[in-house]
Amino acid sequence: MAVRAIAMIGDPVLRVQSAPVSSQELASAEMQQLIDDMIDTMRAANGAGIAANQVSVAKRIAVVEVSGNPRYPYKPRVPLTVLVNPEIELLGDETVVINEGCLSVPLRGEVLRHVEIRLSYLDRHGEAQQQVLRGLTAATMQHEVDHLDGVLFTDRVDDLRTLATWPEYELHQRDDFVARITEFVKTIES
Ligand code: ZN
Repeated sequence: MAVRAIAMIGDPVLRVQSAPVSSQELASAEMQQLIDDMIDTMRAANGAGIAANQVSVAKRIAVVEVSGNPRYPYKPRVPLTVLVNPEIELLGDETVVINEGCLSVPLRGEVLRHVEIRLSYLDRHGEAQQQVLRGLTAATMQHEVDHLDGVLFTDRVDDLRTLATWPEYELHQRDDFVARITEFVKTIES
């Protein structure tokens, strides 16, 4: 297990446009080790996802996994997914306000996300994959692909007054948000 240090907001590596990964590069021991370390780092931090530039490697790779994460107990499960060179196509006009957090930002805040997306990517073996995703899973993918473009969720917070530290979020925002988003998830999954 190799947990890497997570870059925090203010570190310029979080602001770079990450470079696409070639098939040859993806097959290298170095990139496969990076992916394994990203998985370990995400799990150790109880994150729902992590992008390579969050461990200071500016390559277009992100990993996502939701399996009862204590940071995000309201999120539907997502199996471990390795995204290489991911692309998102926004589908429809429906949007939802989500209270987001990030391993690189010690705050939560409200962000508008698209409800439905088509996600295209290579898996860690270089196989092309495509999924249509809805709801919180779609939002998580938008958050991770933003990282690869040097964008943090705080850039997308329209009302800066929604920003809160984690303890203050838990005291003042969590219950209302979880109630609202739990209802939303039901409508998405039905
Ligand atoms: Zn993040």
